[in-house]
Amino acid sequence: MKQHFSFIFALLTTHLAFAQITDPKATEVWEPVPPKVTPGIFPGSPPSDAIILFDGKDLSQWRKCALGYGGKMEDVEAIAKKYGSEIREEPAGWEVKDGAMIVKPGTGAIETKQAFGDVQLHVEWLAPVDPGKEGQQYSNSGVFLMSNYEIQVLNSYENTTYPNGQAGAVYKQSIPMANASRPPGEWQSYDIVFTAPRFDKAGKVLKPATITAFHNGILVQNHFELKGPTIYIGHPYYVQHPDKLPIILQDHGDKVRFRNIWVRAL
Ligand code: MG
Repeated sequence: MKQHFSFIFALLTTHLAFAQITDPKATEVWEPVPPKVTPGIFPGSPPSDAIILFDGKDLSQWRKCALGYGGKMEDVEAIAKKYGSEIREEPAGWEVKDGAMIVKPGTGAIETKQAFGDVQLHVEWLAPVDPGKEGQQYSNSGVFLMSNYEIQVLNSYENTTYPNGQAGAVYKQSIPMANASRPPGEWQSYDIVFTAPRFDKAGKVLKPATITAFHNGILVQNHFELKGPTIYIGHPYYVQHPDKLPIILQDHGDKVRFRNIWVRAL
């Protein structure tokens, strides 16, 4: 009975609380005050709080990818065991020319020296004109968030492939909502919002990773919940990893170019 009364009492007071609000100021929230961020000069220019990963000059923010990325889940599991161990830092083998960094096929993927978790990432890329190439072989690269979660880079302008592997796809997991590709030889942009997966102490996923992405300003991924890391063969599942990991750019054997890369740690 006592419980019954307290329930009715709670209900009444809640109603009263709502009913009593007549002052518009009562719903104004004054804190926290957002930090000031000065926008870049042009759309795509880095804002004042961005970490510049490549400004056209050098590869000082990058190194050769130390641990690689998974082709199958067993690779992912093996790599995950090596996180946190001492790595031998080797220089990134890619070329810098005309304000762009260019994949040097065979030198391997590169990764940021700094590790990141939740980010807003801006990347510009160019798929070179390469007549005779098609499908996944036509200017393939990729942006791997946290070393594990790939947004595909590919010439997808009049080049057919499986849609969950075309430009703007979360590779093998999510078809882009639009084909926003420009022809090969033209610069394109990705603006990506990534939230890292959250794990509990036992390694169970509390919250999956999510990706929102714009390709040339067009929404292609809308808060997609990843099923796990990007793999080429098989079905993914989550494997616990550190809260922050490098961003990897893929060497898939094609001379894809990148420029104006910046990130905001969220
Ligand atoms: Mg790729």
